Amino acid sequence: MFKLLLPRLYLSSAYALPIDDLIRNGIKVLICDVDNSLLPHHQLYMNDKMRNFLSLLKQAGIQVVFASNNTMKRLQFIAEETGLETHSFSCKPFPFVFNKIKKKYGVNGHEIAIMGDQIFTDILGGNLQGSLTILCEPLEKKDLFYTIPFRVVESFVFYIFEKKGYMKKGEYHETM
Ligand SMILES: [Mg+2]
Repeated sequence: MFKLLLPRLYLSSAYALPIDDLIRNGIKVLICDVDNSLLPHHQLYMNDKMRNFLSLLKQAGIQVVFASNNTMKRLQFIAEETGLETHSFSCKPFPFVFNKIKKKYGVNGHEIAIMGDQIFTDILGGNLQGSLTILCEPLEKKDLFYTIPFRVVESFVFYIFEKKGYMKKGEYHETM
């Protein structure tokens, strides 16, 4: 059961994503979380770091789709500036967004990667689809109120991961 919560990669930051590894592994679509992964919660507008990151992915031919469990109001400026497909209330870890993406881009679960800062939404959702799962360190320690209970359980999951010798909090695994 814990294997479903285990990410394939564990990054010190979303911006450390090994794009070449994604290409080598046949990834065509990257589902990206926004809150605390690419931008802090309070930041509604993109910054140059994020613009540059998205441009590298575009050059690499990887389609980016934003999927957040937050509101469209939070994502609106990002959606407008990038013109990229953006899903609010995406209900990760449930398969709705994955199903839409598979249909739209004609890809299977193995051709999708998902990156985010939460085990119970981003990683569990991706592992259930057989997708490449990438956990990134949250940008800020402060979480949205509805994330806090999940963080408590995540600490327990990290404890089990360490016991089982899978991975350790803060010991990153950034390449494949
Ligand atoms: Mg997040």
